[in-house]
Amino acid sequence: MPELPEVETTRRAILPVFTGRRIASITPLREDIWATGRRPPRGPFTGGEIVRRGKTLIFSLIPDKADRSSPPIFLLSRFGMSGRWDRRHQGSRPAPHTHLELLIPEEGVILAWSDPRRFGRLEISPSPDESRLLAGTGPDALSLDGPSLFEIFRPLATPLRKALTNPALLAGIGNIYMAEILFDAGLSPFRPAGSLSLAEACRLSQSLHRILSSAIDSGGSTIHSYRQEDGSPGGYQKFHAVYGREGSPCRRCGLPLQRTTVEARSLYYCALCQPLAAP
Ligand SMILES: [Zn+2]
Repeated sequence: MPELPEVETTRRAILPVFTGRRIASITPLREDIWATGRRPPRGPFTGGEIVRRGKTLIFSLIPDKADRSSPPIFLLSRFGMSGRWDRRHQGSRPAPHTHLELLIPEEGVILAWSDPRRFGRLEISPSPDESRLLAGTGPDALSLDGPSLFEIFRPLATPLRKALTNPALLAGIGNIYMAEILFDAGLSPFRPAGSLSLAEACRLSQSLHRILSSAIDSGGSTIHSYRQEDGSPGGYQKFHAVYGREGSPCRRCGLPLQRTTVEARSLYYCALCQPLAAP
């Protein structure tokens, strides 16, 4: 499942063919992938910014020059399990499971949204603040520093593994990066989030920024199906310290790494380097 680094990698890849380009037409190809009853106007538009919040991309579409007074509208895409944006040459055949196409003639490309498993969602909204997809979504994980993470976690009895992956608290982190961040910070996934000291929350924040930033620099992680926008796999899985490495020696202490299944999800950690008790 794409997490923050994979979505950010996609954003950076498609930005050059979208922002400032004329979007000649927007063509929805499927009905049941929309979060609300709104459908995109056909166009044309000029592509504005693409911003990311957690695992959601927000495209701004500026109505055509003939009608400059019209405000932009926003296309939001939440990736779900298998959603992805690809660009393909204008005139080439669409990939299977393509659900939306943006035609960008000056680049000779079509920007296409596909999602075989259809857990992802698209939405047209007059403003990101009014978006149903973003309703109840917390701040982007990369926008938080140690003291703000401390304040968010302080009232919580839930374990760190759940708090870090709860998009209502902070958006963008799933099972893979939760495991990597907690290992990097030397914190047990079973520690109650509210038990962190301010110093520990700052350490967690530093690990969060370090792990997510280096994953973005590597083009994200490819575990099952994720591919970068150009079809190549991400490279960060080579650097995973714990995820998918149960039984292998911990890179810090040499003991075999643990895997347990909690709520139908695999959880990876080092029992020695991530002690349950606060020091
Ligand atoms: Zn260890």
